[in-house]
Amino acid sequence: MAEAGVKGRPEIGVVIPVYNEADNIEGLVRRLVPVLERVAASFEVVFVDDGSRDGTMAALRQANAADPRLTAVSFSRNFGKEIAIAAGLDHCEADAVVIMDADLQHPPEVIEAFVAKWREGFKNVYGQRNDRINESAMRRMFARNFYKMFAMFGETPLPEGAGDFRLLDRQAVLALRAMGERARFSKALYAWIGFKSVGVPFDVAERASGVSKFDIGKLTRFALDGLMSFSTLPLMVWTYVGMIVSIIALGMALTFMVQTLVYGVDVPGYASLIVSVTFLGGIQLLSLGVLGEYIGRIFAEVKRRPLYLVAERLGAPDEKDHAPLPTRHDRRV
Ligand code: UDP
Ligand code: MG
Repeated sequence: MAEAGVKGRPEIGVVIPVYNEADNIEGLVRRLVPVLERVAASFEVVFVDDGSRDGTMAALRQANAADPRLTAVSFSRNFGKEIAIAAGLDHCEADAVVIMDADLQHPPEVIEAFVAKWREGFKNVYGQRNDRINESAMRRMFARNFYKMFAMFGETPLPEGAGDFRLLDRQAVLALRAMGERARFSKALYAWIGFKSVGVPFDVAERASGVSKFDIGKLTRFALDGLMSFSTLPLMVWTYVGMIVSIIALGMALTFMVQTLVYGVDVPGYASLIVSVTFLGGIQLLSLGVLGEYIGRIFAEVKRRPLYLVAERLGAPDEKDHAPLPTRHDRRV
């Protein structure tokens, strides 16, 4: 366990990304605060408003006025959940930080078990979903296949059923802050940093109100980001495909040569010609597309734009948070 409460640092911090969750904040706070009061000597909650367009900020302002331990960082626009989590970790200075969703799908009561494990000395305590009964059949299938692919191609093994709901020791938080990548697939980043880890099983609840913010398009992008930032296999595989196709082509050339020598010139062959031309064309475009995906990501990284822009900080505990537009980049130089 880290040195508890150094320089007035809260013992437990909670980071909650929120995007159009106005109706959920009050209920969440009502269930979360008693749990935190029970398990922690002191705590802070950092909501990250990911550019919400409903009354989320008003609800957060109200929460902060009623209880100054509830603070918020508000983005200048929607940057996505992964980046909201990164910002939350940047702004949370507690000895241990819990990450959870705002829609009460992650039951706050589980935090008690997380903290118990942390006190035993675990630095990376992840919630492990018992099953996905609350998700649609299509989403379940999508998730299953993604994890299968990630296990095959990914360079970092992911623990079964582990998501964003977890507790990280300050040491692990500092490790995550040091990662400046733009395409953030936090599920795998949590696994990549290592540290003494343990899973705590929990049941995913129904969303308290509103609908999921992830549609199939967002999920596909997310899955591609995940695979590509943790695997270079899609790049390498073309070497082997190219090799195999060349060997086949060589074999065909030899057969044709022998055929021509033995039976003379044979003009028909239109079908095989077209098939091989389109087949090769297809493979070439596909491999170019894969290259493009990686180059696009490299482009996004080399621009070194800030990961997010803060429009407002509610209940900031110290002056540095009032600096105009703090960025991850600034923090690293
Ligand atoms: N979220 C966010 N930015 C987004 C989308 C979602 O901060 O662009 C937050 C959302 O408010 C919630 C959490 O991420 O607290 C999980 O989102 P959601 O419940 O929609 O996802 P699901 O549970 O379906 O995976
Ligand atoms: Mg949800």
